[in-house]
Amino acid sequence: MTRLAFACLLCFSSTAAFAESRVTIQPKTARPGDAVLVVVTGTNELPHGRADGKPLHFFRAKNGYQALFAVPLNEDSASLVVQVDGTKRRIAVRAVDFPETDVVVEDEYANPPPAERARIDEDNKAILAAVGKDDTGPQFSRAFKRPRGEVTSKFGEWRTFNDGHRSQHLGLDVFAREGSRVAAVNAGTVTLVRDTFLAGNVVVIAHGNGIATGYFHLSEIDVQEGDSVAQGQVIGRAGQTGRTTGPHLHLAVRVPGGFIDPATFFRLPIAPAAPAYARRTLRPAR
Ligand SMILES: [Zn+2]
Repeated sequence: MTRLAFACLLCFSSTAAFAESRVTIQPKTARPGDAVLVVVTGTNELPHGRADGKPLHFFRAKNGYQALFAVPLNEDSASLVVQVDGTKRRIAVRAVDFPETDVVVEDEYANPPPAERARIDEDNKAILAAVGKDDTGPQFSRAFKRPRGEVTSKFGEWRTFNDGHRSQHLGLDVFAREGSRVAAVNAGTVTLVRDTFLAGNVVVIAHGNGIATGYFHLSEIDVQEGDSVAQGQVIGRAGQTGRTTGPHLHLAVRVPGGFIDPATFFRLPIAPAAPAYARRTLRPAR
């Protein structure tokens, strides 16, 4: 009986190895600032592909491979081409008018003094370098987990500070009490711990495959650069450091191509395969 069951499984898996691979893309219609998930099933071989001309970074997933890419915020064409091995797909891009809001903050944050502008430039460079410092394979083996809490400000809105400086919101704001725990949304390596002028105390975690998350305005930080963190591990405490109107967590998510809307990212069925050491290996019966 056992021997028969093994035989059937082996027969099934060898059929699967020769099955036609299938490419699916979500969402079918994307907006600038959305993350797009490319899923390839029915293959055991690492696919190769490009989205909008840029290489896709595939990771092993349940039943095949997955890759993520960002629709750039300045994308103005009506569609993008995704090419995977011999398959070519086109996804529609729908323009979006992000809302405009006025925000009142202390004047030094709306109109930073010249001495602080150099610091702001250095901070931005450090954050961009930290989210881009991510050429490892996937360090995660589970789906990404959205932080709990009510959304207080969405991705992409344009903010005018004290009737002056205007900037676009490149993250998701989630209400969090001062001092409440902030957890890593997935496993990864801490690539930045920094006290910045506008984003306050910042932690950036690189998850591999060009995916990184940033946690801004923290009151305390519990990790150091180079630390490996597990999903759900407390990395610091929420606060209101930097340019804020109250305590909250600003979560930034970057995938290959740029920062994307975390709200749509967490809804994608990202399903990485368990790491090799955790995978059950079927051995043929002797
Ligand atoms: Zn924010």
